[in-house]
Amino acid sequence: MAEEKKRAVAIVLAAGQGKRMQSDVAKQFLPLGGKPLICYSLDVFEKSDLIDEIILVTSADAIDYCRSEIVYKYGYLKVSAVIEGGKERYHSVLEGLHAANHYTMHSAEVQEMDLDTEELGKPDYALIHDGARPFVTEEIIERNLEALKTEKACVTGMPSKDTVKISGEDGYDADTPNRSTVWSIQTPQSFDCSVIYDAYRALSRTEREVLAAGIQITDDAMVVEHFGKVPVKLVEGSYENIKITTPEDLDIAEILR
Ligand code: C5P
Repeated sequence: MAEEKKRAVAIVLAAGQGKRMQSDVAKQFLPLGGKPLICYSLDVFEKSDLIDEIILVTSADAIDYCRSEIVYKYGYLKVSAVIEGGKERYHSVLEGLHAANHYTMHSAEVQEMDLDTEELGKPDYALIHDGARPFVTEEIIERNLEALKTEKACVTGMPSKDTVKISGEDGYDADTPNRSTVWSIQTPQSFDCSVIYDAYRALSRTEREVLAAGIQITDDAMVVEHFGKVPVKLVEGSYENIKITTPEDLDIAEILR
């Protein structure tokens, strides 16, 4: 029997202020090789046959810019919505997941196909990606979606090249995890869409307690670890799939592009 086609949505995050970049322009919109940095990952998702829809999450003041200077100008037909994110990354992800679960496909495509949006159903898979990581590749997307055939949650990462220390009080070394078990985590982080949506909604309901417990939510896998009750599989990314955070990352990106 032919395998049922699964629908995959990429939620691309571009609502951060990027304070560590020391620039007035948010890092995901800085120019890289003549186009805004965010375009690099959008290009990859747009071209990938494995991705059906893209939701772009940005700050309120960048929505018009993203619509006209990014989506329209560069012709990203898979972008179904440009929406406002939130204060923290996890707020932006939740907004992306709300959108993914409540709208579907590109409105023009829907009109052309004369389909009722309800008929298209919700996406099966959600790939959450930092717009500040320009060097995601088709192979990384493939490895994520391959893993999702048997797993409900997977994260892209690479084995750490450095020895990692856990710092204790006052800057003293408290512990050294075995390097062979340490991975640096990247994006995309990819999930069964209902699993990640349920986990994020559970986080949202208990956000106050989570914050009071001093837990900092820095990636999506953490949300599944706390609320998802499914194992999170590590998937190989690439050492080039860097996140642009500080000015020197932009110099490295100029070499890698
Ligand atoms: O700040 P950090 O480098 O961890 O951000 C990772 C990604 O999450 C970036 O692409 C950034 O634009 C996005 N982000 C977001 N909403 C926030 C904070 C960060 O979409 N409130």
